[in-house]
Amino acid sequence: MRLSRYFLPVMKETPAEAQIVSHRLMLRAGMIKQQAAGIYSWLPLGYRVLRRIEAIVHEEQERAGHIPLLMPTLQPADLWQESGRYDAYGPEMLRVKDRHKRDLLYGPTNEEMITDIFRAHVSSYRDLPLTLYHIQWKFRDEIRPRFGIMRGREFLMKDGYNFDVDRDAALHAYNRHMVSYLRSYERMGLTAIPMRAASGPIGGDDTHEFLVLAQTGESEVFYDDRVTQLKLGARDVDYDDRAQVASVCAEFTSLYARTDETHDEAAFAEVPEAHRKHGRGIEVGQIFYFATKYSEPMGAVVVNAEGQRVPVHMGSHGIGVSRLLGAIIEASHDDRGIIWPEGVTPFHAGIVNLRQGDAATDAACESLYAALKARGLDPLYDDTSERAGAKFATQDLIGLPWRVTVGPRGLASGKVELTSRRSGESEEMSPEDAVARLEAIYDPHR
Ligand code: ATP
Ligand code: MG
Repeated sequence: MRLSRYFLPVMKETPAEAQIVSHRLMLRAGMIKQQAAGIYSWLPLGYRVLRRIEAIVHEEQERAGHIPLLMPTLQPADLWQESGRYDAYGPEMLRVKDRHKRDLLYGPTNEEMITDIFRAHVSSYRDLPLTLYHIQWKFRDEIRPRFGIMRGREFLMKDGYNFDVDRDAALHAYNRHMVSYLRSYERMGLTAIPMRAASGPIGGDDTHEFLVLAQTGESEVFYDDRVTQLKLGARDVDYDDRAQVASVCAEFTSLYARTDETHDEAAFAEVPEAHRKHGRGIEVGQIFYFATKYSEPMGAVVVNAEGQRVPVHMGSHGIGVSRLLGAIIEASHDDRGIIWPEGVTPFHAGIVNLRQGDAATDAACESLYAALKARGLDPLYDDTSERAGAKFATQDLIGLPWRVTVGPRGLASGKVELTSRRSGESEEMSPEDAVARLEAIYDPHR
């Protein structure tokens, strides 16, 4: 993309309405625009990151054997009357009537609808296990929408639902979700800690929330800080191997890590004092096992191997796709702007032309741009006639992890400069070497 032809409405001033750094930086970097309280347009730069996050979520869900579909945002009220949640959900549910006076609602979550799909088509244990998921906009009429897209009213969520013949199979699905979530967050450059949580309106006993540690987080957390060192890394997990998946979950959940809702002072006191930490976190996902809470009232039944009709065991599993942008920025920024992890960056590298209009410099930028694109990388070429200082400030604000600076002085000796946004370190090299270096950097992220 050439910046001169892009739509990147960056702001110099700090917007007064934004209380936390991620919200300020998303507004300043021209990523979002508020349209109503808690309702945002995703401007091109923000939309690019949103799609990268979605792509990672899709890849990791499909790797775990989970199947994507797409359910609508509007749902008929009668499904929710069957489960008993239509009245229970309260004012967070946005209710609408169509021209025929039929009651509809903008879905805050999809347990009822997915159970309806399941019961219409599946009746035998032979069709199980089955996990269906989608990434779709949700609406919750939050009493206090705030912090930008972090607590929106309309927000993008991945929600997945497992259907299993018994409790053991459903707990394996729960564990698969935990591992696939850990892998997704790691690919986004985040450490998200699974913490035992309370279940709220979804119901059920087994539930973990995934929290990104941040001062600005809305959840109070208590943890053994050795949990922050755990990494999945490149290890291969066979999602069909129940014992292996369960052992990964055990590794990530054996150290103390809880939100205030489930915090237990006595158990916490057993953590060695040097490791006992109390802080705040951002909830970026949650998984639940709730057995037959929806399948029983809604008649989602299968015939098992013994020929008996049994309600299916279910769970639901959510990732806050749009909230993740805020969480990543809270975890990765400095006083000049955002620092995108390579896995989610909107562009792989910026190209800064220090002397726009100089024939040799322009030509070098063009050939660098073409070489990066030929290798499947997506550069943002600042071909505007801004001063160098302003170009650098924009690059720093929008947070591309790598910048290639091209100017007449370097080109005289055949060199460009490759700069890391995170470390600030620069290195001179030939344009060919810069391309090869960027290709190697991004290889593990593709
Ligand atoms: P919270 O406690 O933050 O209100 P929740 O527990 O009600 O969230 P879930 O039903 O678990 O939310 O939804 C799955 C994920 O969707 C959450 O972990 C969170 O990341 C995201 N999410 C929930 N509510 C919002 C919101 N209002 N704005 C943006 N993301 C949200
Ligand atoms: Mg939750």
